[in-house]
Amino acid sequence: MDLSGKKILIDPGHGGDFPGKTYKRREEKVCTLTVSKALEKLLEEEGATVYMTRTRDKDFGGVDIDDDVNERVKYINQKYSGKGIDVLLSIHVNTDAFLSRVGVLYPERGKASKILAQNLARKYGTFMANTIASEADLAVLRDTKVAGAKALIETGKITQSWYEDDAEVERAAFAIVAGLYDYFREIK
Ligand SMILES: [Zn+2]
Repeated sequence: MDLSGKKILIDPGHGGDFPGKTYKRREEKVCTLTVSKALEKLLEEEGATVYMTRTRDKDFGGVDIDDDVNERVKYINQKYSGKGIDVLLSIHVNTDAFLSRVGVLYPERGKASKILAQNLARKYGTFMANTIASEADLAVLRDTKVAGAKALIETGKITQSWYEDDAEVERAAFAIVAGLYDYFREIK
């Protein structure tokens, strides 16, 4: 099995005027794009058709971060509904706050999304220990109507330096690909 015929929409979180989490000179919007591009490359090598909500440093024209997420949701729904997207995966980075954790979030509705998140968390845990899947009420998961399954992955903490290390970024992306394989095997 490879990923031929699978359509995957990657959403690199934040961008443009909305950098997301920051730590010294590291910005979430840069980290998410770096991971997303590595993931895109690996998925294409596995035969998947990959779409990206952005491929450069841009926002979606919102007046603040919440509004920008809503604009992003609108963009996703306009551009990708009816396109037969199998998986929407939004890529993010968490803070280093005590309670924040690395994990895969899934919306309340949709059994496939929960199965996707559980498989992603299991395999991502080989890269980042203690990755867990949990339900979350987020606009990008709740309000997008484009994909068979949806998840948002917090790939790490903004204080971590691996985002600037190509080999580590590739390892992270590889773990996500492995999780996608497990998901497609489980739901087929
Ligand atoms: Zn984020």
